[in-house]
Amino acid sequence: MKRNVSLQEISDGRLYGENDMVRADCHGCPDCFRCCVGMGNSVVLDPFDIYRLQSGEGRTLAEFLSEGSIELNVVDGLVLPNLRMSGSGERCSFLSENGRCGIHESRPGICRLFPLGRYYENGDFRYFLQTGECSRTDRSKVKVSRWIDTPDPGRYHDFLCRWHYYLNALEERVLGVEDSEASKRLNLSMLQCFYLTPYDTARSFYEQFEERSSANRKENSFL
Ligand code: SF4
Ligand code: SF4
Repeated sequence: MKRNVSLQEISDGRLYGENDMVRADCHGCPDCFRCCVGMGNSVVLDPFDIYRLQSGEGRTLAEFLSEGSIELNVVDGLVLPNLRMSGSGERCSFLSENGRCGIHESRPGICRLFPLGRYYENGDFRYFLQTGECSRTDRSKVKVSRWIDTPDPGRYHDFLCRWHYYLNALEERVLGVEDSEASKRLNLSMLQCFYLTPYDTARSFYEQFEERSSANRKENSFL
């Protein structure tokens, strides 16, 4: 989800790469689950999140949708999946009674990042530290790649860039077509190709992303 705010207002004013040290480590968040509640539909999932959830939890997106822990919403004209917050406390569906993440190993990229965010510019991105989001004041410094805790950080970075700029292009196209049926078709094609068709978890995600990108390019003549 894009935010139109100045980086100076919400960060420490620095941008970080995967090899930089950043004061983000909140030591396992003891007694705190503030960023697992009240997040609305902002914890949007990317195709790697779906692959990671399918590998770790053994369920496809269709199954998560049918159990109600993930939902679909329109974000900037695109239909994308996000973690569902529920109940009067607006709790993430994966948050346990005692305030712990029930899918810690497979949690999505946005959860792994927090309190970092991604700042995209010039076809690439870097990380920034959100200063008003995490309530812990005694955070330690940690290497960004260690904090994100995702194998093969270079490939993951490349994928995130590709995905972000693909969604930007798709958004422009969807918002630019006057025929609502055409925009629905573009959304459905993206959802089916990158999210709803189950992944082969015995194979690399990145190979499958390449194959799916190529199929989507043929079908919709772009990416
Ligand atoms: S998936 Fe886990 S870490 Fe992410 S919001 Fe839900 S409970 Fe919190
Ligand atoms: S607000 Fe900070 S300490 Fe609390 S759960 Fe989120 S990251 Fe952890």
